[in-house]
Amino acid sequence: MTAIVNAETCNGCAECVQSCPLDAISIQNEKAFVDPDVCGDCGACVDVCPTQSITVS
Ligand code: SF4
Ligand code: SF4
Repeated sequence: MTAIVNAETCNGCAECVQSCPLDAISIQNEKAFVDPDVCGDCGACVDVCPTQSITVS
């Protein structure tokens, strides 16, 4: 399980970066990138994303 970002809809706002307690998310090329080795599947980023671009599966 890891958070997955939909690059088609992500606008690079970085709300998810701020929300992640494990610092698993960074902005790369104006899109959010989740490091699957760091993500703890907590779902915090899913809840804050204004464009519903993150799912955990
Ligand atoms: S909160 Fe959503 S739209 Fe904003 S950078 Fe993260 S994935 Fe992209
Ligand atoms: S699911 Fe939790 S640990 Fe994983 S990237 Fe999102 S906020 Fe970070």
